[in-house]
Amino acid sequence: MNQVLVLGAGQLARMMALAGAPLNIDVIAYDVVSTNVVHPLTQQCQSLSLIEAIAAVDVITAEFEHIPTDILSLCAASGKFKPHPEAIKAGGDRRIEKTLLDLAKVANAPHHIINTRTDLDAAITTLGLPMVLKTALGGYDGKGQWRLKTRDQIESVWAEMAHCIAVTNNQAIVAEKFIGFDREVSLIGVRNANGDVKTYALSENVHTDGVLSLSTAIVGDTILQQQAQQMFTAVAEQLNYIGVLALEFFEVNGALLVNEIAPRVHNSGHWTQQGAQTCQFENHLRAVCDLPLGGTALIRPSAMINILGQDSVPRAVLALESCHVHWYGKEKRAGRKMGHINVCATTPEQLQYQLMLLGQILSQQYFPTLPR
Ligand code: ATP
Ligand code: MG
Ligand code: MG
Repeated sequence: MNQVLVLGAGQLARMMALAGAPLNIDVIAYDVVSTNVVHPLTQQCQSLSLIEAIAAVDVITAEFEHIPTDILSLCAASGKFKPHPEAIKAGGDRRIEKTLLDLAKVANAPHHIINTRTDLDAAITTLGLPMVLKTALGGYDGKGQWRLKTRDQIESVWAEMAHCIAVTNNQAIVAEKFIGFDREVSLIGVRNANGDVKTYALSENVHTDGVLSLSTAIVGDTILQQQAQQMFTAVAEQLNYIGVLALEFFEVNGALLVNEIAPRVHNSGHWTQQGAQTCQFENHLRAVCDLPLGGTALIRPSAMINILGQDSVPRAVLALESCHVHWYGKEKRAGRKMGHINVCATTPEQLQYQLMLLGQILSQQYFPTLPR
């Protein structure tokens, strides 16, 4: 029996617990908000303090990158934390992330770090407009971002940024050149302590209001897949990474630029639960527990639809033979990630047809990216 402690007690820890059970891997989670050690399926408090949990488990890992540094240091000091804490820091701080991408020599959007108004002027001179501005720390689901399109917006955007820099204790902003991408894709892969790397099929991702809505596994684009794989390996090796890592890309005229990394299992990899030989959650646990990695091959065309702000779907969804519904057991809140639906088929065309059937069952309001 392997005992794993996950920092963060959300749906990713929950799905790790579900994937670990058949392998006798027991997962407990640390909720950094409530500071309780909980069971990831029931959210029930365990009679353990964080210190006791760290001592009790074999391995510690994380389901998100915004972990308070004192907790990360405490876990790292035990020698049980995987991946290396530097990888978590690179995912959580866009300044460190940009340095990492440049060290790994992977293409990414040109950037400029902003602490003062003078820095903003310099960013506009070097990057030009339009540009995207992102808080260095704490951003997710498109939160903590501004779009600066024209010069007449400079003062109002700067006022908001200056306020943000002040209230967040001098947090920097990272300015990025706006990339007019053709589409967004991501690559999920896994690397173990021996340096073996396995990657899943690329996902094509559609966002709505900054939140991932639909991910579809890309079938048969060997050139793009190889390009992404090479970039993935460069980043994973630079971090001496152990576990599942996700790279988000912009695709522009067939070339990839890394947007950002996520040092963890990733929402755009949820389709691997039904569409790959081994799902991302199991492979993350295998890597951090030093077990052989499972196969990552695509076993059938697959897609995933996020369920946002809804705690039920019509019974007709379950009646579709191609659909699997995964709920996270969370309290309903507007826009919250409550669950997802995985859809599979035997050909890409049939997959599109299944998605269209789903589009007839699910409302346009909550599922705007389904084909109709
Ligand atoms: P996540 O929830 O994936 O962690 P995030 O809040 O960290 O998201 P990003 O992925 O950096 O934010 O940006 C959110 C979205 O904004 C991207 O998926 C993309 O659609 C758009 N975007 C980000 N940076 C740029 C850019 N430089 N040029 C054009 N669009 C961008
Ligand atoms: Mg992010
Ligand atoms: Mg992102």
